[in-house]
Amino acid sequence: MKAYNGKSVYKGIAMGNVVVMKDRALPIKRYRIQEIEAEIARVDEAGKKAKFQLQNLYDKALKKVGETNAAIFEIHQMMLEDDDYLESIQNMIRTEQVNAEYAIAVTGDNFSEMFANMEDDYMRARAADVKDVSNRLVKILQGREDVDFFSIEPSIVVADDISPSETVQMDKEKILAFVTVHGSANSHTAILARMMNIPALVGVPVDLQEIHTGMEAVVDGFQGKVIFEPSKEICEQIQKKLQEEKEKAQLLQTLKGKETITLNGKRIRLFANIANVGDVGYALENDAEGIGLFRSEFLYLGRTSFPTEEEQFQVYKQVVQMMGGKKVIIRTLDIGADKQVDYFNLGQEDNPAMGYRAIRICLKEPEIFKTQLRALLRAAVFGNLSIMYPMIISLEEVQQIYKIVKEVQRELDRVQIPYKIPEQGIMIETPAAVMISDELAEMVDFFSIGTNDLTQYTLAVDRQNEKLDDFYNPHHKAILKMIQVVVDNAHKCGKWAGICGELGADLELTETFVKMGVDELSVAPSMVLKVRKRIREVEG
Ligand code: PEP
Ligand code: MG
Repeated sequence: MKAYNGKSVYKGIAMGNVVVMKDRALPIKRYRIQEIEAEIARVDEAGKKAKFQLQNLYDKALKKVGETNAAIFEIHQMMLEDDDYLESIQNMIRTEQVNAEYAIAVTGDNFSEMFANMEDDYMRARAADVKDVSNRLVKILQGREDVDFFSIEPSIVVADDISPSETVQMDKEKILAFVTVHGSANSHTAILARMMNIPALVGVPVDLQEIHTGMEAVVDGFQGKVIFEPSKEICEQIQKKLQEEKEKAQLLQTLKGKETITLNGKRIRLFANIANVGDVGYALENDAEGIGLFRSEFLYLGRTSFPTEEEQFQVYKQVVQMMGGKKVIIRTLDIGADKQVDYFNLGQEDNPAMGYRAIRICLKEPEIFKTQLRALLRAAVFGNLSIMYPMIISLEEVQQIYKIVKEVQRELDRVQIPYKIPEQGIMIETPAAVMISDELAEMVDFFSIGTNDLTQYTLAVDRQNEKLDDFYNPHHKAILKMIQVVVDNAHKCGKWAGICGELGADLELTETFVKMGVDELSVAPSMVLKVRKRIREVEG
């Protein structure tokens, strides 16, 4: 029995077998080799294994997600047979006498850059593929394991760290809990775990060499503890807790269909945050009164090319239709910082949280923005859709956005495609936006306060940095004062203000928010009924 403590990012209990993700990137070292032909043979051998893995992935994806989506694994297999690519690797090994891992990584980077600079959209999209293929080869050569989420039983996933794009690609039904060695409690991976209703621990000092796939484990998110190979007594205790949790969840079910109203009759709109269409089910199951934040950027993650207008339109339309007339607030893409996508070719930044992200990318690369806006305006015809823009810092940005929306409107008019201009609001997640919220309120339909970023930018505490978790204090007076300022400024202009950051679900502050006059709280689906229960207990 081995027990470890970590930071709990979603409280829950899990019990089951472990799957260890040992496929974290290892540094690729360059070293001189003596046996050139043997090194080239290693590349050939890795190529064969990679093709076998890709064929397997193709077969499984074909059954699960259809031919179009499975085709990517075929393209990757073809790349592994590309003469130019293979010769470039072999040449490097021969001429520079370097190891296979290094030659593959450098060739992958060079080819990726070459593709990224091509005119043709299709070829440009291959930049990420060639990187993927090279990573796969390096991974095989380094002896790292690939977890096949298609075929595992529901498991406790243990990893060094997990990125948002990896998390979003995982099949929720297959994950009982997340346990990671690194990762901050405020990261998007943690947010996704909460949204998926999956117990999760980060900062667990477990040695991954000592843990293996198939081991039994229990996770207690309330105590922030994971125990590998638990004793019979521990298993019994955990079983009991699981049962208690089930009973509590059942009790909460009685709040379904009840109004979200304080003891003195003040109504609060209680919405849910989602990352994709699959989450709408959770929002409805938990009786959310709308969607307060659809993080649309997750549509762009975990793939190798931009989602088309049509793909996006279908998703947004489906979400508004599934919500059947309830409000759905879709945030335009918030890529950058921890949400990295190869095919955007954003490049390395020293300070990504303060970097090229969110609305900044959209304003600098309006074609990407317009594709999303066209899809949103078209989908607005099918339900109660609102658009929300992230990371706003100035009035000029809002003016520029409206100009682009106008252009999109004209384009749609020209081709006579039906659309609707929906309600448009902004996220208040920078101190700048707070300070000018009186003027911004005149320009927009609503505010939604993103307390996750507002905390990091106000306190100058990187939300991704696990060393700073103790300094990341969203209860800081400065944050609470800012929320009050924003709500007051919205109300002075007859606009509404909500909170969609994680703080919105903090039951210790529910009463404070109600008293501040917050109009809407948007929380993880799993928190909706808990927040409703709290609101019904307080005076507003
Ligand atoms: C926020 O910053 O509070 C927010 C809701 O956006 P995200 O967490 O996706 O950055
Ligand atoms: Mg944010």
